[in-house]
Amino acid sequence: MRFPTKTASIKEQEELADIIQKNVKDCYQCLKCSAGCPLTEHMDYYPHQVMLLAKMDLYKKVFDSKTLWVCASCLACSSRCPRDLEPAKVMEGLRAMIIRKRGEGNVEVVNPKGVPRQALISSMRKLRR
Ligand code: SF4
Ligand code: SF4
Repeated sequence: MRFPTKTASIKEQEELADIIQKNVKDCYQCLKCSAGCPLTEHMDYYPHQVMLLAKMDLYKKVFDSKTLWVCASCLACSSRCPRDLEPAKVMEGLRAMIIRKRGEGNVEVVNPKGVPRQALISSMRKLRR
């Protein structure tokens, strides 16, 4: 019987680490990123929860999360992280993985009511890449 050399989640771990040059497993769940995020009320998972899901290799949940697209790349979380994990960069890396997987034309952008214009502009910038 043949076994795959890498599971899907290991491939995803490696892909994310390759993009962001950080190891999400270093996150120790201090919650400082979520405490400083201005958009948590629009998110289904808070930034520290996205970090935890990635740390636990639960990539399906991460990829289905609207948090990645609500994130405005404001860097508030990155400036607060005591582990220098740059959660904003992690979000960016996860979005890049989704775009690679689905193809640029197949990413649905959701703009929930009340989300600041900065978030919309940020999404457009992200998707133009
Ligand atoms: S601030 Fe950094 S260490 Fe703390 S929960 Fe967020 S990502 Fe993890
Ligand atoms: S970069 Fe994204 S996750 Fe981080 S504080 Fe800003 S909106 Fe929140």
